[in-house]
Amino acid sequence: MRSTLFNAGPAALPEAVLQQAAEAMREIPELGQSIAELSHRSPFFENVLTELKSLIQSLLHVPDTHDILFMQGGARLQFALIPLNFLPANKTAAFIDSGYWAHTALQYSTYGGHTECVASSQEQQYKNLPSFNPASIQDHHAYLQLCSNNTIYGTQYQTLPQTHIPLVVDMSSDILSKPINFNPIGVAFACAQKNIGPAGFSVLIVNKALLSTANKNLAPALSYAHLANKQSNDVTNPVVAMYIALLNLRYLQAHGGVAEAEIRNRLKAETLYAELDRNTLFEAPVNKANRSIMNVCFFPKQAQHQQAFLDYCQTHNIKGLKGHLQAGGFRASLYNAVTIEHVQTLVDALQQFEKLHA
Ligand code: PMP
Repeated sequence: MRSTLFNAGPAALPEAVLQQAAEAMREIPELGQSIAELSHRSPFFENVLTELKSLIQSLLHVPDTHDILFMQGGARLQFALIPLNFLPANKTAAFIDSGYWAHTALQYSTYGGHTECVASSQEQQYKNLPSFNPASIQDHHAYLQLCSNNTIYGTQYQTLPQTHIPLVVDMSSDILSKPINFNPIGVAFACAQKNIGPAGFSVLIVNKALLSTANKNLAPALSYAHLANKQSNDVTNPVVAMYIALLNLRYLQAHGGVAEAEIRNRLKAETLYAELDRNTLFEAPVNKANRSIMNVCFFPKQAQHQQAFLDYCQTHNIKGLKGHLQAGGFRASLYNAVTIEHVQTLVDALQQFEKLHA
């Protein structure tokens, strides 16, 4: 029996998508071969890439000012490549440190050039978003990098900070969950394994004017300019992961696109936070203004309920709730493929557990 999955990533995918993926794994009828056997240079895969790009463009209303690129590898590869591509030796990358991944991105950036933290909530254990003063951005800053949704601590920007330099935004855990205003964005990037599809590649949405300034003195496999020239198809792409992502984005489009997904996502998050705020055994520590609609972090009020609740969920086939090692507690990830019924199953479990243990 299929489990109710709240994994942080690789995340749940819609059952209908998994069904289609399973069929494609056996054989794509018009090709007489499995998707796993298909060349990344085949016309079929060229069409997959083209459709994937146009779906992202239409789902997110990406303006003509921005290009959409795909690259083998995850978000940490982008942490490393962004300074190599966009940080000149005489400039500094400004960072907002809002959690584990933002902090990791900052550390990766130091390998690529000068890096400076302009705001941090580390001293508040990342329970809230840092307060950012636009005056902290100065002429020597090339761009301001931040993470729009902090997967591990469950905080999320409802609107991005305003500044006059390009924003570089790690959207790994909230891309496609709600509309995005691309005007201030130099680079938005996301690993695939949450709202896009299986792990194996990343999506980059890059301002074309910024892209034209990218460092050309890089080995081709590290160069965004080269990637754009090759229409994201040079290094062998993860064909299976990208095909399943295409199926997943077709599914999203057929179910009302990002606008409808946002309505569903807000309802799911409100439903779960309301129960956590009511339940006498658990608490959700993130202040209401900063709460993530994608990753809901919560804690038991009594330490012995940590393992007991995980065990209760395991016996009821509810999985993926253990918080990240850095944060502890629990985390329910409510990505697009998680339904309101799944959330209701978790709410019921929280209520039953309370009845048994109060
Ligand atoms: N950024 C964010 C916001 C994440 O949630 C994660 C975890 N998937 C990463 C970066 C790291 O991703 P990867 O493992 O693909 O490097």
